[in-house]
This record gives sequence, C-alpha cells and structure tokens, in this order.
Amino acid sequence: MFRNMHVTDKPVRPRRAVASSETAREINRDIVLHAIHLHQPVSRADLARLTGLQPSTVSVIIGQLIDEGWVVAGSLGRLPRGRRPTYVTLNDRHVTLAIDLRPGKANLAVVDINGKILGRETATFVIKPGSTPEEAKAAIAQIAKAARSLRSRYGDRVFQGLGVSVSGRVDQRTHRLLFSPNAPWGQIDLYGELQRVLGTPIEMENAANACLVAERWFGNFGDSSNMIAISVSEGIGAGMLLDGRVVRGRDDMAGEFGHMPLEETGPVCGCGSVGCWETFASNRAGLRYYRELAPESTLDSFQELLQLALKGDIRALRSIDKMMTYLARGLAMLAAGLAPEVIIIVGDCTALWPRICPLLESRLIAKSFTPHTPRVVAAMDGDGARLRGAAALVLHKVLFRQEDFASRTVRGGERAGSKSAAVLA
Ligand SMILES: [Zn+2]
Repeated sequence: MFRNMHVTDKPVRPRRAVASSETAREINRDIVLHAIHLHQPVSRADLARLTGLQPSTVSVIIGQLIDEGWVVAGSLGRLPRGRRPTYVTLNDRHVTLAIDLRPGKANLAVVDINGKILGRETATFVIKPGSTPEEAKAAIAQIAKAARSLRSRYGDRVFQGLGVSVSGRVDQRTHRLLFSPNAPWGQIDLYGELQRVLGTPIEMENAANACLVAERWFGNFGDSSNMIAISVSEGIGAGMLLDGRVVRGRDDMAGEFGHMPLEETGPVCGCGSVGCWETFASNRAGLRYYRELAPESTLDSFQELLQLALKGDIRALRSIDKMMTYLARGLAMLAAGLAPEVIIIVGDCTALWPRICPLLESRLIAKSFTPHTPRVVAAMDGDGARLRGAAALVLHKVLFRQEDFASRTVRGGERAGSKSAAVLA
C-alpha cells in the first residue's frame, strides 16, 4: 500500500492516535516504520515529534520493531545538554533479490532495505516470438542459475523474496503476463515457473509501474501525487500515478502508450499494428535511425549506439536526437491529457541526459497550453531503477503487509473518512 508514502519530509501535523485495537497498533507501527524509512538515522524523540505519537508509544513500537529485526539501534546522537539519544535505522541485513527481465537477458541484483544495490549478475538467453515452452523454460533455468549464484554470495543477509520487473502487463490477481509483445513469455506461466525453480515468494510487475514504486519508495518524489514513469527500452511503457493512485485500467492493461498510433504508416510493431509510438521512439527505433545513416554499420545493440554517441559520433547523436524528437511528441500528448507534475524517463538513453533533457523539455514547453509544464527527470539510477523498483514491491509487501500497493493507494489530498486517513492526517 502506498498510504505510508504520503508522509512527506516536512513534519506532519501532530496527531494523537490511540492504540486501542490491533488495527490501530498496526497503523501506528506503519507510521513509525515509514517515518524511520524517510528520516533515518532518527531518534525516538524526533520520531514522536514527526509522527505526533506519544513518546511512550514510539518507544514500545521501536522495541517491537527491534525484536522483529526490522530496525536496529545504532549511533548516539548529540544534544547541547542532557542524555545523548540513540538513533534508529532500518536493518539493512534485510535484502531482496530483484530481477529485471528483458527480451534477451535478465539483470539480477541483491537490493537492501534502503535501496542499495549490493551485487549484480546478468543471465542471457534466447527468447523470441514463436519460442517453444521448452525454450522459455531453458531461459528460466539460466535466470535461476544466476539467481542462486548471486544469493549464495550474500548468505549473511535475510532474503525477503523476489521482485520481478517485466516489460509487459501483469494481471495482479492471477499473476499472468497479459501483454508482452517484445518479450514473448506468454506461452508459459512465467510467475509460476520462477516461483517453482527459485522456491521463494514473488512480486511481479510491469517495469514502468515498478519504476514508479522505486521513485516513491527510494527516490525524490515521495510526496508527488501525479507522476508518470516512461520506460524506454525495446518498447515503451508507462506507469501512471494520478491523484495519488496507480492507474491500472481493465485487466491491469493501462499504460500501453507505446502502442498509441502516432502515424498512419511505419514499421510493423511487435503488437502487429503499424505507426505505434514505440516504433519511432524506442531503443529499436534509435538503432534503425543509425542504420539508415550508416548502412555499412554492423552495430547491433542500443548499448553500442549509446557508446558511440557518448564518444561524440555525430551519426549516433543524430539518431538518438531523432528518437527523442519522437519521444517528445508522445510525451506532449500524455502531458496534455494526464496533467502530470513529473515525467520520469527510465532507460539506457538517460546516459545522454545533458543532451536529451533540454530537447524533451523544450518540445514539451512548445506544445504546452498551460504555464505548468511537467518537470522531466531521469530515473535516479538508469537501469538500476527497474531493479530497485522490483525490490520495492517486495519490501512494501513484507514491511507493511500490503496486498496490492495500487488498490490501497490514497489520494494526495485525501484526509478524512478512511482508515488510511488516520495514518496520514
Ligand atoms: Zn504496437
């Protein structure tokens, strides 16, 4: 649930909660836990001030969280006079295995409770439209091998589960991958198969939604209620948080702007149509533009194109500029229709941020009909965002016993009349 994420860095209005029932105790526990997450290292006295809870209540909750192993008491603080307070932090022994599933590879990482990536591994495999279930299972075996190797390197940590970010839409009720034209896992039960081979609880989510969660949980936009994460890779996907709620739509399919018809003609898209936004603005499009400018080139990955661009190769830079021009066209439509405060770009292209940010911003400003053009920012750590997002999905569930972060999200301005309002008021 996202309800805890609306606690901002600013001190919240003091409030006296009465822990007279199990529910109230759980809410108070969540308030304290979330305040530690935002303000750590933090003293008990500051937690009481930040949450509005009685100091004695805070002490009881901290004792419980220390007993449960979520929180550790660490360094001593300094005050002008009086007893030195002990600061508490989240216990970073708790880690998550995170997998960012791409069409031909999987990036794996061990991510601690504070979003720090401790170690990484990559598994490569072949998976394409028409792959047999046996080929898909062989790919999963490769991923499982890399996962076990990574996990064995952190035997002293407490693994809380596996988070998977995937470039498709995931039905959060059945865990089935519903739409994934660029990573055709559809023929097998990806969730069930991963759970079977790795023997751990799994949270699986669309990559753009995972990045949205990462920005709310680990990033700088914990108090923004209207933001869009645009994942630019082999395709384009969007995760949307509007009025404080993650937008899911029917069958969890909302956000497939990559298949918004931008032109009447164009290359055939993975979805079977032509003219889709992602056929003009994804990594694949960037690579295609480069090949048009350099037909003699043997370049076959966007990473290689990026390396050329970073070295100042003019044809590589022009290809990426063209890709960004198309990206901006779609972003202007989203900005006009959805009124986000922030647009977060996630993808390898952000390695060229000093060049592409002004390009995107200037085009958004040129097309904006209000003075409030959304801020365009790069995801906090490039491709690490998908991994940290996958980890955040798991951490949220285990820390706050969430069922579905989306369905429990609270509007930014909502305060009265709900259980969650008691947490936020
Ligand atoms: Zn399409």
